Amino acid sequence: MTKITTEYLLSILTPNFELNRRGKRSPYLECDAGWNDIIADLHTKLAMLYPNYSILQIKEKLGGLRFYTGSVSDEIHNEFHNIIGLAEELSYRTCEACGAKGTMCKREGWIKTLCRPCFDVWSKDSENCQYGFKWE
Ligand SMILES: [Zn+2]
Repeated sequence: MTKITTEYLLSILTPNFELNRRGKRSPYLECDAGWNDIIADLHTKLAMLYPNYSILQIKEKLGGLRFYTGSVSDEIHNEFHNIIGLAEELSYRTCEACGAKGTMCKREGWIKTLCRPCFDVWSKDSENCQYGFKWE
């Protein structure tokens, strides 16, 4: 289960979030709180490697975490992106809603990684759902 609140997560991300058009840092997440721990751990590792890295966007896409950053120096580029890749992989096994162990699920054309109880809530009013979806 997720331990870190979204409020706390946003507070630790703020210094690295890119400036918006009004010159302010106002971080936001385009994914649910179940991935907060993954994102916090990812941020800690990236900041240790490259303290001034910038976060462009954090979102869910096709059931997985996407963590977009500004460019980093060549010497650490591979290591930096490997760390992001591992966190993105972990998101495909972690319920986006609650942080429990999850699997890719489908509702109509929408893919989301969820645990069984969260899937049951999410799919309640829809007939075309699949728990444990895999790309062909
Ligand atoms: Zn869940």
